[in-house]
Amino acid sequence: MKITVQKFGGSSLQTEERRDRCAEHVITALRDGYKVVVVVSAIGRNGDPYATDTLLNLVGGSLPNISKKEQDLLMSCGETISSVVFSSLLQSKGISSYAMTGAEAGFRISESYGDARILNIKTENIETVLQTYDVIVVTGFQGETPKGTVATLGRGGSDTSATALGAALKASYVDIFTDVSGIMTADPRIVKSAKSMETATYGEVSNMAYQGAKVIHPRAVEIAMQADVPIRIRSSQEEGFGTLIASSTSAIRGRDLDEKPVSAITQVKDISQLKISHPESQGDIFKIMTEAELSVDFISIHPDFLTFTIPAARREEACKSLQAAGYEVTWTDRCAKVAVVGAGMSGVPGVAAKIVSALNEKNIPIMQSADSHTTIWVLVAESDMLEAVNVLHEAFLAE
Ligand code: ADP
Ligand code: MG
Repeated sequence: MKITVQKFGGSSLQTEERRDRCAEHVITALRDGYKVVVVVSAIGRNGDPYATDTLLNLVGGSLPNISKKEQDLLMSCGETISSVVFSSLLQSKGISSYAMTGAEAGFRISESYGDARILNIKTENIETVLQTYDVIVVTGFQGETPKGTVATLGRGGSDTSATALGAALKASYVDIFTDVSGIMTADPRIVKSAKSMETATYGEVSNMAYQGAKVIHPRAVEIAMQADVPIRIRSSQEEGFGTLIASSTSAIRGRDLDEKPVSAITQVKDISQLKISHPESQGDIFKIMTEAELSVDFISIHPDFLTFTIPAARREEACKSLQAAGYEVTWTDRCAKVAVVGAGMSGVPGVAAKIVSALNEKNIPIMQSADSHTTIWVLVAESDMLEAVNVLHEAFLAE
């Protein structure tokens, strides 16, 4: 049995006309001899009647007055509605389609409401149903905890549902259908000249996703990488195969890495930089941060001071904990992290130098920097972020 997984995001399912285009992709795969496992997000965006944010607005919006468990119970409804609506559309086109919840599809997930992890997927039910039906439409984003309750996988979690199913079912492809033509060299809302990439490695895309490119959830990429299932990020509304994401050897074949060491620029804002002067014990600082479950970044240790960054939303709490322990803390709010990502930059000299001179030329101060073998990050003021991303895109990725 040849299986392919197709995930459709909220905006792709927003209107009847768009759902029709999505159905066309299912029909094409059926014609090519596949059984199709569809994974759907909730229909539409905030404001649309069955979108996840709209449902949350029924109980107070972003700060609801109910438990996390109850939030998950509510938030999982959008996908449930979506799966039945899309399955009914397929049935109306004469396709044998069956809708199922995450629990029915075998998603066993942890009990961390709002950010659950997939423990395992029991595929027996899907396999049995596929003996009779050609298409199964599975609700993304949700699963069943060991207690039998419903939990969700966090924002962007349907991507993870899709690649995890692809891995468990040994699918030929996981197609992530969305509202852009593929993974782009920068966020198209920020860089007008951003272009769609033909191929990318799992490593590049997971770096991009962790560094703020919201086009796919980073965990989704990692699961596909472990199972070596190719992902394609594609437009649901336009023709084309989009970006193929695969292991380095298959994905970068034909790409001239020396000529293009950099693949993409990404950005994350809402970051605060903390500076602690004359710390008595450097280790204790990180112990305090770990106890508060604060993930720190951009750690830079000097003999008489130490800096790192944290999400702005947690700055106040972090400073309070550190001050309570006797540390002298100062901070800078409204920072942004801009990353230059590329599988080809490893060992290529001059990438960092080019970043620095491009930013210097525009008088954009670099507050801090860090690097790995495939990514170089700079911390800049949030007010410089847009320009920094565009300047770096121009320096590395202009044709
Ligand atoms: P879906 O509802 O299909 O899951 P998302 O909104 O989660 O769609 O992801 C698609 C969006 O990701 C695009 O509309 C685009 O604005 C954004 N995005 C950010 N960075 C990138 C990038 N480098 N390449 C492509 N899209 C990006
Ligand atoms: Mg998404």
